[in-house]
Amino acid sequence: MLLTLDHLTVRLPGAARPVLDDVTLRVAAGEVVGLVGESGSGKSTTAKAALGLLPGRAAATGTVRVDGTDVLALTGEELRRHRARTVAMIHQDPRAALNPVRRVGDFLRERGADRARAAELLDAVGLSDPERRLRQRPHEFSGGMLQRVVIAGALAARPRLLLADEATSALDVTTQAEILALLRGLRAEQGAGLLFITHDLHLAAAYCDRVYVMYAGRVVEERTAAAFFAAPAHPYTRGLLACSPTLGDTGRSLTPVPGRPPSLGDVFPGCPFAPRCREAEPDCETWRPEALRLPDGGASACRRTPAQPSTDGTGAEKPLPGTPRADGPARAGAGTTAPRCAETAAVESMTVHRRTP
Ligand code: SF4
Repeated sequence: MLLTLDHLTVRLPGAARPVLDDVTLRVAAGEVVGLVGESGSGKSTTAKAALGLLPGRAAATGTVRVDGTDVLALTGEELRRHRARTVAMIHQDPRAALNPVRRVGDFLRERGADRARAAELLDAVGLSDPERRLRQRPHEFSGGMLQRVVIAGALAARPRLLLADEATSALDVTTQAEILALLRGLRAEQGAGLLFITHDLHLAAAYCDRVYVMYAGRVVEERTAAAFFAAPAHPYTRGLLACSPTLGDTGRSLTPVPGRPPSLGDVFPGCPFAPRCREAEPDCETWRPEALRLPDGGASACRRTPAQPSTDGTGAEKPLPGTPRADGPARAGAGTTAPRCAETAAVESMTVHRRTP
């Protein structure tokens, strides 16, 4: 397993509740895993944990392993090498990642690529005339082209794990489609795992193999992408989908999740979603959430999740939900009859445009 978070809990001084609360998550080599939820749900902190980039005063318990390495135990040069070579993060705003007075070639060389490799990377991310691009500065690029430069920088050290934090949210839909296809192609070529953070649930369902839903620092649902979209199990997931517009579905009214996302000052004696949940019962106020298995191998942290009996007669614990098969990662839609949304069809039909003007 490439990325393993086991029962990771992160507390900040002065916060009434943990930023991350008992988070367990996996990403296999060659797998695309989505992480969705409202702002403040803990998505970015989860990704930063894989980089060993938690706030200095944070207290963390549990484990974070990347390719077998205990990230929370890394310090000094080992931690620097981990961030420079094993894991790479692509942020939402490419301009924030680039020094405006330095040339693009300098940016790539700082990440370990010599001139030939830097030109090769720019060519790989679809930028034309890479030798000329290396001599240019950020202001000479459009937003989409800069995001390609940042992706080239992320790939410079051939990382095993890519963390994309809203990496395409600021781009127009055409460029977004090209970047997504590009990332998927590069992931396949290099066998890297991809943790894909997004607010766009339909995009996550269309693009990812598996999806984790986070709320108040906890994972509340884990499903294959097809099951996540076709039969969401947790009331919060259903609420998010109910207020997400779908291309072509003009007859459906959007229903917002009532209330507001919790802050770090809010504490919960029971289910954190209870104050906003349309299906809450009195017992939810005191039920401490735990991941309950679903018949399809997924998990939902809702006490109303139907009990899942053991089917092998041994009482043995079932495999972790979403654990990839021996012959490769679980594929979205494999062996299912999940309905296809318009976005799914659009993403699946995308082609990589290797050159941009
Ligand atoms: S445990 Fe209760 S409050 Fe929490 S999501 Fe389930 S039904 Fe809603």
